[in-house]
Amino acid sequence: MTTPPEVRSRIVWDYAPAPESPDHVRLRDSYGLFVDGDFRDPLDGTRVPTLNPATEEPVAEVAFAGPADLRRAVESARRAQPGWAALSALERSKYLFRIARLIQERARELAIVESLDGGKPVRESRDVDVPLAAAHFFHYAGWADKLSYGVGGRAVAPVGVAAQIVPWNFPLLMAAWKLAPALACGNTSVLKPAETTPLTALLLAEILQEAELPPGVVSIVPGDGAAGAALVREPDIDKVAFTGSTGVGKDIQAALAGRPVSLTLELGGKSANIVFEDAALDQAVEGIVNGIFFNQGHVCCAGSRLLIQESVADTVIGKLWERMGRLRVGDPLDKNTDVGAINSREQLERIQSLVSAGEEEGAVRRSIACELPERGWWFAPTVFTEVAPAHRIAVEEIFGPVVSVLTFRTQAEAIEKANNSTYGLAAGIWTDKGAKAFEVASALQAGVVWQNTYNHFDPTAAFGGYKESGFGREGGPAGLRPYLRVT
Ligand code: NAD
Repeated sequence: MTTPPEVRSRIVWDYAPAPESPDHVRLRDSYGLFVDGDFRDPLDGTRVPTLNPATEEPVAEVAFAGPADLRRAVESARRAQPGWAALSALERSKYLFRIARLIQERARELAIVESLDGGKPVRESRDVDVPLAAAHFFHYAGWADKLSYGVGGRAVAPVGVAAQIVPWNFPLLMAAWKLAPALACGNTSVLKPAETTPLTALLLAEILQEAELPPGVVSIVPGDGAAGAALVREPDIDKVAFTGSTGVGKDIQAALAGRPVSLTLELGGKSANIVFEDAALDQAVEGIVNGIFFNQGHVCCAGSRLLIQESVADTVIGKLWERMGRLRVGDPLDKNTDVGAINSREQLERIQSLVSAGEEEGAVRRSIACELPERGWWFAPTVFTEVAPAHRIAVEEIFGPVVSVLTFRTQAEAIEKANNSTYGLAAGIWTDKGAKAFEVASALQAGVVWQNTYNHFDPTAAFGGYKESGFGREGGPAGLRPYLRVT
């Protein structure tokens, strides 16, 4: 008698929990506002708890700035600016270098706090957010004495006092994107972190103290949207740099109309990730997963519109669905977790409402079966097929782990569909034909186009949008321009 051959369909791994311990993290119970070189009690602000989205428990209490606090921060930035600009470029770059080194020294702690406060998997905080934040300070430390080379050899001067507002999806990294070029160019800054994720910016404030950055060069003032609105209306600022939603960006643009305040806006997106039939499909599937499920899809440039060439659509969707089934959703502090918690209840409700709209409009929804923790805010990775270009899920930014699939037949149709958006932040192209990739990339209205990769960030590369995704660039020499007066 012969034994029947063993049937091996697909390999399924079980992972033992691999939690990162938060034991060595020393958070204060309550944080003041970091103004004029020290943590201070709010003058007319309040104190609010910041919650862990995976448990809904408070992580720490944080002061929120009121109008008098913002005024005090702007005044301190104004006082500090001439002295900071007068330092030699070498001295300024030493401070930036020191900040980068201190971020590296406290990398583990920063990664854990980023995940505790924001819900993202610690693997991402550890491997992406924190090292890239340090890399931005290193990069701009190198630019401080070469500013005029960055703008074609012309004479340069700092803009002055910058008001900088960041969102909750990459709290430390966005702070680094804003602060590093501003400081390298001799500006001072008042930075407002987002209301749900202020903690790593406050740890950065401790780092600035440790680096002995002169008081007032950077103030960090957590607060809500009202604080952001008040900050951009402060009379004594010279520059606003905003990253956040398109709606708020428009409001800021209107508020600054007629004032001599320069503005950069890094706004939302609905980026197309285009898979051609000649692509390496397994590699493309990894790129699709990284494009939309990285950071729970809370990514401005997320590849949320997946355009697949019709001839390979069924194959790609099948492979994608199979790969999605292997995503691990859960505890952000577990090093095996792929998809963590949704940042806030409000954001979860926004995702749920757009997903319901997708179902009502007739698209076909598939969400992976996974056990979601009882407390906290979670959303299972989801793919929509049978999506029409006019569906809300094909048009509006969901900012969650939800991808909408559309198909195309020809290259021209792919380009037309990809550009059929009010946004223009990023795009991905998957093909093994180099010439096709360049041709398509140059026809796309997107600030960043990745070829056979996605969500790849580097401090030397410019990042920014077209159309309603904003204007101005961050990163690389282009990122110096918004912080310089060029004569
Ligand atoms: P949001 O616009 O609600 O908030 C962003 C920041 O602006 C927060 O700090 C908030 O407190 C502040 N704010 C809110 N109302 C304000 C007002 N009226 N005036 C001034 N400031 C105000 O956006 P969000 O929900 O926190 O973030 C998600 C959005 O950010 C998405 O649309 C995403 O695409 C975008 N984003 C863009 C980039 C980019 O580089 N293009 C990067 C990350 C996020």
